[in-house]
Amino acid sequence: MRGLTILAVVCVAAGGIAACVRKGAEPESAAEGAAQAAGAAVAARVDDARIRNADRESGNWMSYGRTYDEQRYSPLDRIGAANIGTLGLAWYYDLDTAARAQESTPLVIDGVMYVTSAWSKVFALDAATGRELWRYDPKVPGAAGINACCDVVNRGVAAWEGRLYLGTLDGRLVAIDAATGKPAWEVMTVEPGSRYTITGAPRVVKGKVIIGNGGGEMGVRGYVTAYDAKTGQQVWRFYTVPGEPSKPFENPALEMAAKTWKGEWWKLGGGGTVWDSMAYDPDLDLLYIGTGNGSPWNRAIRSPGGGDNLFISSIVALKPESGEYVWHYQTTPGDTWDYTAAQHMILADLTIEGRARKVIMQAPKNGFFYVLDRATGELISAGAFATTNWAKGIDMKTGRPIETAEARYGEIGRPFIAQPGPGGAHSWQPMSYSPRTGLVYFPVMEAVFPYFPDKDFRKRTLAWNTGVDFNAGSLPTDQGILDQIKAGLKGHLVAWDPVGQREVWRVQHEHPWNGGALSTAGDVVFHGDALGEFAAYDARTGAKLWSVATGTGILAPPMTYLVGDEQYVAIEVGWGGAFGLAAGELARDAHIATNAPRVFAFKLGGTAAMPPPGPPPRPISEPPPDVATAATVEAGKATYHRYCGTCHGDSAVSSGVLPDLRQSAYLSQPDTFTRLVREGMLADRGMFAFGPELSAEDVAQIRAYVIHRAHETKRADAAVAEHSGAMQE
Ligand code: CA
Repeated sequence: MRGLTILAVVCVAAGGIAACVRKGAEPESAAEGAAQAAGAAVAARVDDARIRNADRESGNWMSYGRTYDEQRYSPLDRIGAANIGTLGLAWYYDLDTAARAQESTPLVIDGVMYVTSAWSKVFALDAATGRELWRYDPKVPGAAGINACCDVVNRGVAAWEGRLYLGTLDGRLVAIDAATGKPAWEVMTVEPGSRYTITGAPRVVKGKVIIGNGGGEMGVRGYVTAYDAKTGQQVWRFYTVPGEPSKPFENPALEMAAKTWKGEWWKLGGGGTVWDSMAYDPDLDLLYIGTGNGSPWNRAIRSPGGGDNLFISSIVALKPESGEYVWHYQTTPGDTWDYTAAQHMILADLTIEGRARKVIMQAPKNGFFYVLDRATGELISAGAFATTNWAKGIDMKTGRPIETAEARYGEIGRPFIAQPGPGGAHSWQPMSYSPRTGLVYFPVMEAVFPYFPDKDFRKRTLAWNTGVDFNAGSLPTDQGILDQIKAGLKGHLVAWDPVGQREVWRVQHEHPWNGGALSTAGDVVFHGDALGEFAAYDARTGAKLWSVATGTGILAPPMTYLVGDEQYVAIEVGWGGAFGLAAGELARDAHIATNAPRVFAFKLGGTAAMPPPGPPPRPISEPPPDVATAATVEAGKATYHRYCGTCHGDSAVSSGVLPDLRQSAYLSQPDTFTRLVREGMLADRGMFAFGPELSAEDVAQIRAYVIHRAHETKRADAAVAEHSGAMQE
């Protein structure tokens, strides 16, 4: 480490790391040597000029969305309809991480792939062979998992002048030497002990690393921060919602925003977290951030008396030098449904009604596809891409949704079954815009959700703070009713015309929670689904051209690159995420036998054998007798759905990500079960110590409820078996 530090000092003295790395010194390590052998004179030497001219080196994928406009369109055309039949496996790499959701977009720079995994680990691989060059584990404490609403995921790194930048689940920003995998500096971006997480990929603009965070379910105040890429010094921070108004506002925009809030929102957090999407226009010199839901969700609690609650659920344009506010557009004013606007944003130049327009496009959770003028924030058009029973449309005069009368469950005090639900009609899974077809490709979720106002809300440290009663809205255990609900639950890949605001084609999936999209100049759209199929579709018609069964559910977006003259298509597989963890029986169909986190790379004529399936599911333990009173089980059910269900699944049904508690051997060991929940015996795996909020009696009630559910399931399974036996006779 000392040698590394001295090297860094010498390089900075010589005019910065860039000056240093350009010398192309002898490789210091085997990993660095391998990176050079793989075609990289210097690892990840990305700068402003290179990203701005990314299309001149289309074989690389140098930033999260490939280019600053985040189109996720590759100019590579070596793979197309005519030859895609020979696409085969080039290599795969087993990720050293938990069997949790994998959401990373790999970068490939000069022959080296940089990919991240669950628990914020980074892997550098030879992009031609998958051979590991180095790996970096930031050693995120397992207990940080409780703050992650939607799995312990990471979506990728940023590259800049020889370094990679990683946001860790526990809130750190780490600069890593791209050649060696050794950290260069590290800063804490959140208050230690707070409930923020980082899952999104940083972006680097003008030598500044931009990073946000999540926590909108936990009760936090959203912000985005810029750090000097060389030193890690903070340059600016922009809060997305106002703090306590008796204290000075951080900037004039927040003073304006505070007029749209009521009550004592700052005690609850407010939300508006910048947990995923950003884009940058170098010509306008504007940085765009997408902000999340209000915290808590229920506006009647968050801002009693109403208000738009700026800048939650908004697209905000900032000056990247200073973080100064320029404009905003709020997609869901006064959000009360977890309708984040943190979804992917794409910059493109479109001709609309004969006029050349510089637009920004987003399909946020609320079900409307927005096209805005990205210089001014003016709404150009908005079209429903999914069923939206909360709003009839968008009023083009005001730019506001035309809400339906029953939708605001909090203010009305009555439950509302909404479509979309908090999973969104479209969530974080990245879209792709092909300038060749003029279409935007993205996965759509068709799902409803019952919002019951929480009559027992208080801000809790170890539970979600939504103001929505998940117990009242939990799934029925009657299989017939469940089957009806499941019948209406689907997803599809859509090709959307952003000028005409209409669907051009769709590929229907059986399951709602699927992967992101990639389009290429070969007029191919690549996309993976929850059931583990990775497929290629004709970009103009949606006809399936090719597919492969990977054996593990897919959420991540594909990407493509060249090594030499050979085009590769890569995808990370790994099932989980918000829906995979929380949706219980509704997500169970995607629980295919294994959840093996891997990276796959395919090329024309690839002949590598697909890997064997992962380990078999753990054995099922016989539950103890179901002897608790109905009142105990009922109390346990309520506590379960407040504290446990968002990770272990609605109604104690796991979808195969975390252990299914109904099958746990610990149910037969009441003392151990209590210690596990209250004292954090398995904290290193993410099972936090709930002792501060759950008493031994609470835990005994939870255990009674889970045992009851295990017996209910056994009876239901026996009835199904008897029925199918009778059918065969
Ligand atoms: Ca949220």
